[in-house]
Amino acid sequence: MNTGNLESASTLEQLKKLFGFDTFRDHQQELVEGILSGRDAFGVMPTGGGKSLCYQLPASILPGTAVIVSPLIALMKDQVDSARSNGIKAAFLNSTLAPAEVQAIEKDYIDGNLDLLYLAPERLSLSNTVSLLRKNQQGAPSFIAIDEAHCISEWGHDFRPDYLFTSRLKELFPQSPLTAFTATATEQVAEDIEKRLQLVNPVKIRASFDRKNLFYEVLAKREAPTQIVEFIRERPQQSGIIYRTSRKSVEETANMLVANGINAAPYHAGLAAEKRSTTQDAFIRDDITVMVATVAFGMGVDKADVRFVIHGDLPKNIESYYQETGRAGRDGEPSHCLLLYSAGDLGKLRFFIEAMPDEAEQGRARQLLASMDAFASVPSCRKISLLNYFDETCEVENCGSCDYCAGSFETVDATRDAQIVLSAIMRTGSRFGGIHICDIVCGANTAKIRQFEHNKLKTYGVGKDKPKTHWRSVIDALVAGKKLALSPDKFPVPQINDAATEILFGRDSFQIAIDKRVVPEKAQHR
Ligand code: ADP
Ligand code: ZN
Repeated sequence: MNTGNLESASTLEQLKKLFGFDTFRDHQQELVEGILSGRDAFGVMPTGGGKSLCYQLPASILPGTAVIVSPLIALMKDQVDSARSNGIKAAFLNSTLAPAEVQAIEKDYIDGNLDLLYLAPERLSLSNTVSLLRKNQQGAPSFIAIDEAHCISEWGHDFRPDYLFTSRLKELFPQSPLTAFTATATEQVAEDIEKRLQLVNPVKIRASFDRKNLFYEVLAKREAPTQIVEFIRERPQQSGIIYRTSRKSVEETANMLVANGINAAPYHAGLAAEKRSTTQDAFIRDDITVMVATVAFGMGVDKADVRFVIHGDLPKNIESYYQETGRAGRDGEPSHCLLLYSAGDLGKLRFFIEAMPDEAEQGRARQLLASMDAFASVPSCRKISLLNYFDETCEVENCGSCDYCAGSFETVDATRDAQIVLSAIMRTGSRFGGIHICDIVCGANTAKIRQFEHNKLKTYGVGKDKPKTHWRSVIDALVAGKKLALSPDKFPVPQINDAATEILFGRDSFQIAIDKRVVPEKAQHR
């Protein structure tokens, strides 16, 4: 099947003929030609990168039928319709079909009349599906593609137990090349996918996750509704999505926006399916300007000119944040991603994690949340943190597309403040959490302070002229700068390390970045 140059010429011709495109986007050709040559393939490309074409094109070129496993049941019909409009003989099998429709499609498959068959994952694990896939007159599937392949990994943000069955495909269909596609992959998830699917020497592609037209901003959350209204007022008529965690806050935020004359509507899983689909359509048609939604909204919503995405609450992990902000600016025009950050949100998410029944899952969730928190709370280039998270290096002095690089922070000397907290930590034997340390420094009168007689320490109350949040940020900055260690406990406590000792004894200085956008709070005297 591998026909070298001839093949390249013909894939380009086919691209033009079937899709009407003159050129491949980055990496598409390599994946397409890899699949055509009979190899396994693995493509990690951000949303909008053009993954569907990578399996649709070879499916229509190769004899026989390609099988695509996809979790997006609601979108299968659209995907099939769009493939058909390109002249590809496509069909899908999922739970939305009537028995007669299923029969007709199965017959088409067996008769070899299809280029492409989409399958829902829950369908795949049925034994009659596996035997159906073996009955095609033209032989085994020309290849099998796993779309949204991160669903197989418990390390991903969207693990689906149904997907575990895909790990048997290699044994069940050894003659069919196996391919996987995802828009989400830290190196860890990617390795997990490759291992679980047992891909054999795959053509591997990892596109850059740098979305150059997106500006990332993180703002301390004070009054979320007011902050959101102000942000939107500065962008009249711009289409945007606001994510909130709970249905209640979605409703409240939408009501508040409407009360302020903004054309907004709520969207969450508690609304009737019909209402949801009319709201979504209205948003796509620009009849609704701002969508206020839970994370239930967005998968597969292909609206190119979303100009901003606001996270009113802290997301659970960076992958979700990246996917959700990724819905802005698909047309390549400049777009804004605003995250409102508060330590209170962090506490709420931690509380949910502590209530998880499965310990392994809990550990993973904790680790993912810690990365999300570091992204939002450590003042540094957001672009670099995001790309580093996806194991991509980014070597720029100034990314030009985040609040940090745009100069929202000011670096000030904080050596004395660092010495104060470090001394409180040292004098209490590196055994207490950050909150208690801040209480000592601020001179709070808590039961715990009285119990341990920490009001007798030399550092007790020496920082009461500054708010507790300031001291908290000094501790966070020391940890982020590795000038303090964290104990490896479930609830880690700050511990003095060598770098801390250097600062404590005046042999090293310490700077922190102050957020210029935040109006300083008054110190709380107690
Ligand atoms: P993904 O699945 O990676 O999110 P899609 O497959 O939906 O991306 O493709 C995103 C958009 O890019 C679609 O509108 C598609 O038609 C378009 N597209 C894909 N490949 C090309 C190409 N080679 N040239 C022009 N447009 C393309
Ligand atoms: Zn930056």
